[in-house]
Amino acid sequence: MGPSVQETLALVYRLQTIDNELAQITGEIETSRSGLREKEEELSGLSARIDSERKDLQALAREKKDKEEELRTNEHIISENKKKNKELRNSREIQAYMAEMEFRRDEVERLQDEILRLMEAMEVLEKTLDGRTAEIDTRRQALDSARSAQTGLEREKEEAIAALEAEKASLMSSFPENILSQYQRLKISHKNGLVVSRIQEGTCSACRMVLPPRTMTEVKRRQKIIPCLHCQRWLYLE
Ligand SMILES: [Zn+2]
Repeated sequence: MGPSVQETLALVYRLQTIDNELAQITGEIETSRSGLREKEEELSGLSARIDSERKDLQALAREKKDKEEELRTNEHIISENKKKNKELRNSREIQAYMAEMEFRRDEVERLQDEILRLMEAMEVLEKTLDGRTAEIDTRRQALDSARSAQTGLEREKEEAIAALEAEKASLMSSFPENILSQYQRLKISHKNGLVVSRIQEGTCSACRMVLPPRTMTEVKRRQKIIPCLHCQRWLYLE
């Protein structure tokens, strides 16, 4: 003799509970993993930004060095020219000298302005980089603790999964084959994977509809599986 209708429904209900718990745990692990991946991506994005800003800073430093070199050249030319001041012989030479000196002085002024501008830009960038370095340290620490929390969580969940899987395996061994295949088929077609619905105070707990007295009488007879009229789930009265 096979199991009674009540025993079968109790088995399916337990199996359904186990499957739901397994799905929930797997979902929790996945959510937590994707949170961790997000943190990792943020960190690598920040790290890439720091690298590119460091390169910008180096480029500014090189530009500043070039301008300083140019400035020194111009200042040198000015001081050399001043020595030749007394050697000028005619107005044409004086004019050329004046034009050259004016050009060099303008150059000196322009270069000094540019160097100043570069120094200001470098200062701003250095401050930004200091902030980013502090931020990346904080985020690295946060990621480290999130990683170890994840490891702990997964270990804990794996234990829960193993316990549920073991119970499921023992449950499956006593399962009537035709019921099991029906359960697996209905599990896919029903919303939330619910195949069995518990009756609570005369109501189907899955769809919340009040069950007619005739259905309640049939369920209480426990001679066959009675589906809910509204959602077609197997009604189970504990
Ligand atoms: Zn229902």
